[in-house]
Amino acid sequence: MLFAGGGVRTSGMKQIKKVLIANRGEIALRINRACHDMGIETVAVHSKIDESAMHVRLADAAVCIGPNESAKSYLNQPAILMAALMSGTDAVHPGVGFLAEDAGFAQKVASHGLIFVGPSPEHIRMMGDKVEARAKAVELGLPVVPGSDGVIKTVEEAKRVAAEVGYPVLMKAAGGGGGRGMRVIENAGDVADSMKACQVEALAAFGDDTVFIEKYLSHPRHIEFQILADSHGNVIHLGERDCSIQRRHQKIIEEGPSIVLTPEKRNKIGGIIVDALKKLGYLGAGTLEFLYQDGEFYFIEMNTRLQVEHPVTESITGIDIVRHQLRIAGGESLPYRQEHVRIEKHCIECRINAEDPISLVPRPGKVTDYLAPGGIGVRVDSALYAGYSVPPYYDNLVAKLVITGRTREQCIARTRRALKEYFIGPLQTNIPLHLRILEQPEFISGDYNIHWLERMLERQS
Ligand code: ADP
Repeated sequence: MLFAGGGVRTSGMKQIKKVLIANRGEIALRINRACHDMGIETVAVHSKIDESAMHVRLADAAVCIGPNESAKSYLNQPAILMAALMSGTDAVHPGVGFLAEDAGFAQKVASHGLIFVGPSPEHIRMMGDKVEARAKAVELGLPVVPGSDGVIKTVEEAKRVAAEVGYPVLMKAAGGGGGRGMRVIENAGDVADSMKACQVEALAAFGDDTVFIEKYLSHPRHIEFQILADSHGNVIHLGERDCSIQRRHQKIIEEGPSIVLTPEKRNKIGGIIVDALKKLGYLGAGTLEFLYQDGEFYFIEMNTRLQVEHPVTESITGIDIVRHQLRIAGGESLPYRQEHVRIEKHCIECRINAEDPISLVPRPGKVTDYLAPGGIGVRVDSALYAGYSVPPYYDNLVAKLVITGRTREQCIARTRRALKEYFIGPLQTNIPLHLRILEQPEFISGDYNIHWLERMLERQS
C-alpha cells in the first residue's frame, strides 16, 4: 500500500506522473497549478453543472462523475476511484473538504494501488474525532484546553466537569467541523437543555451525538501551525497563521505571522509540535489549531489535510506546500530543515464569499463582469471568470485574495487597495465587509480576538 502518510510507510520512491484531483473550484485549480509546475499531468473530476468550470478547463483530462449534488458527484467514491483507475493516474489529491478527511476513502485509494496524497487513514480517523485527538494531544505533550477527560455521557457528568473547569463551558461534538455542533453553557441550569440541543445538532450534522466539554475561553486568538512531515522522519513547522477574524466560528481573514508571537514563543511551541508529530509518526501536510490566551497555547484540533488558508504560509515562507505534499507522497525527503524556514514577509488572506453581506445567506449567480486585482504582492486564488455561473450546490467561497507585504502596515494598505480593485459583477460578496474590517482601529493595531468581529458588527449595527 502506498500512503504519503504514517502508519503504512511508503516502501520507497514512486515518481508521480499523473494526479487525479478529487475536488473543484479554487482548490482544484491550486493543485492543478502545482502539478503543472512539476510536470505532472492532471485529471479533473466534475459534476454535470461543473462541465465548463475552470478546474475542468485547465486540467489535462476531465471525467464527469455524477449529477450536481455533492453526495452524487464529489463524494461519489466509486465514481472517483473508477475515474482514477481508467485514466491511469498514480495518485489522488483530495484537496480541502469533500473526501479530504475521509479515512475510508484514503484506505480505498491505497487498496486500489494508488497513492493517496495525505496522511494514513489511521491518522485521519484519529484526528477527525475531537475526543480522541484531544486525548492523543495530551499523550504527545501538547497543552489542551481544560475540560473533560473524554466523552460526556450524562447531564450529571456534564455538570460535574463544568463545575470543575468553571463556567462558561463549551460543549462540542466529537465529530464536529465547520464551526458547527458547539454550545456555550453559562450555568448549571442550562446544562440539560444545551446538552440535548448539542446532541441533536451533532447527530443531524455528523451522524454521531458524542459530545465533550472544554472551558470556554473568553478572549483567545485562534493561532494554528502548519507542518510538513516526510517518510524519512523529517518534520518541520512553517510558522503560524492567526485566524481570529471569525464570524459564527468561521474564518474570514487569516494573517501571518501573528502579531502577538515573538520568535521565541514561536520556536518554543513549534519545537513542541514537531516533537509531538515525530512521536506520532505523522506524514504529509497538517495543521495544528490552538487557542492562544494570556500567553498560553491550548490545542483544539488537528486538520490532516491542506487548509483553505495555506497560501498565507506559502507567502511568508516562500515554500509551496502543495508541491511538497506531492513530493512527500512520492517518497522524497523534505529539502528543508527547520533552520531553513524563514518568515520574512507579512500576509493577509481575505476569503471572498458569494453571499449577502448582512444575512450571510449564499448568493450564487452568474458573473458577467470580472476584474481581478493585480500588482506587487497580490495573489488571487479563484476559479471565477466572466460568463461563469456560481452554482448553488457547493461552498460559497469564490476567491481568496492573498496579499503579501514587507510589513503588516504595507500589507494592510495593499489589501485595501486590492479589495477596491476587485470587481465581480453583479454578484453580492463580502468584499464590503472585508473593507470595513480593514479600516477598524483594532484590526489595524492587531488588538483583536475570536469574538472581536461579531462584537464590532453588533456595536455598529
Ligand atoms: P471546527 O472543527 O468546527 O472548526 P474548532 O474546535 O476548530 O471547531 O473551533 C472553531 C472555533 O470555535 C475556534 O476557532 C474558536 O473561535 C471557537 N472555539 C473552539 N473552542 C473554543 C473554546 N474552548 N473557547 C472559546 N472558543 C472556542
